[in-house]
Amino acid sequence: MLNNFLKEVVVSLVGKTAEPVAELLNNKDYVNEFIIAKKLDVTINQTRNILYKLSDNGLVSSIRKKDRKKGWYTYFWKIEVLKTLLFLKEKLLNKKEQIEKQIQSRESKQFYVCERCAVEFNEENALLQNFTCQECGDIFTLKDNSKLLKEFSKNLIKIESQIKLIDEEIKKEEEKLDKQKQKILRKEQKLKEKERAKKKKQTALKKKKFQKKVKPKKISKKLKSAKKR
Ligand SMILES: [Zn+2]
Repeated sequence: MLNNFLKEVVVSLVGKTAEPVAELLNNKDYVNEFIIAKKLDVTINQTRNILYKLSDNGLVSSIRKKDRKKGWYTYFWKIEVLKTLLFLKEKLLNKKEQIEKQIQSRESKQFYVCERCAVEFNEENALLQNFTCQECGDIFTLKDNSKLLKEFSKNLIKIESQIKLIDEEIKKEEEKLDKQKQKILRKEQKLKEKERAKKKKQTALKKKKFQKKVKPKKISKKLKSAKKR
């Protein structure tokens, strides 16, 4: 399901040829761009164009590594699953809003059609034309919106159920990212504790050394003379 959503976004932004990128980049590790080009069977420049388009929308991220021998950089890519899902959700929410507006308009307003020319007019325009088609001279008939409304509500239900599924994937991804974050935090915490223990040991060691140095007689003599005065 997740890969289907990712594919949908990739195809909508860069076209069908780029579809395999979605699954390929839904990977724990970053993928070498030359491997992507090979898998897509396109040139490296075409590959980069695809990736840049996705990157412009914040849907992929990359790291670069320098080739020590050749001296150039190779990029490695990964899809940003959460951002891609949010992008798709946003798109569907817009679609949903549009359909709702259309439903409202069809329910509250009247539309007229010239059946011969298959052209539709809203009430104002139909009135302006005196309910007569300027192309063929036929009289307009009142549009029956029931079929259209049925179609709209069908679409609406479909979109709503899709949004629900996307929300589930978003939740899963957020939990996954949260776990990763916790893991990193725990690692950092451990490292810090180690560092602290090391420092503590070092200061203890220094103290010991210092105490050894301080003991010699010179200082105790000075102390004695100070006492005398
Ligand atoms: Zn007509």
